[in-house]
Amino acid sequence: MKKGFSHDRPARYDRQLAEEHKDPYRPKAKLSEPTVCPQCALVYHDGHWQTLPRPDGAQESVCPACRRINDNFPAGYVTLESDFVKQHRDELVKLARTTEQRERDQHPLQRIMDINDDGNKIDITTTDIHVARRIGEAIHSAYEGDLDIKYGPEDYVVRISWSR
Ligand SMILES: [Zn+2]
Repeated sequence: MKKGFSHDRPARYDRQLAEEHKDPYRPKAKLSEPTVCPQCALVYHDGHWQTLPRPDGAQESVCPACRRINDNFPAGYVTLESDFVKQHRDELVKLARTTEQRERDQHPLQRIMDINDDGNKIDITTTDIHVARRIGEAIHSAYEGDLDIKYGPEDYVVRISWSR
């Protein structure tokens, strides 16, 4: 078991703690506006990273999602593992992708970083804790099974596992 994860508190309580912990990848000071991410072209406007046309005279700064991707430092881990996973890999990956896209349309920093499928197990990493939870919940509501969500009370991180 990973250090720093609690096992005797309800997930809801840990979630609250995790959310109170600021994502270390969000800037502490506000960026000047307009700023553009040179990697994904999001525009920082009105205090948020948004999908907008590139404004004239924009500064450049890598957005928090791209920084996590560059550092290979996920905030969310989703693990799907069972015989069912072996037989339904494509559907599960597709559902994860469509859930990501739906989330990302509203919140462009919510992204899948990587999907690693070794046959029996699918590991998905994400740039934020919310999109990881959405993926876990979407799979659970479509296929039932057992969903386990553990928030890191000390850090801005969530680990989700699902099996059926
Ligand atoms: Zn970016």
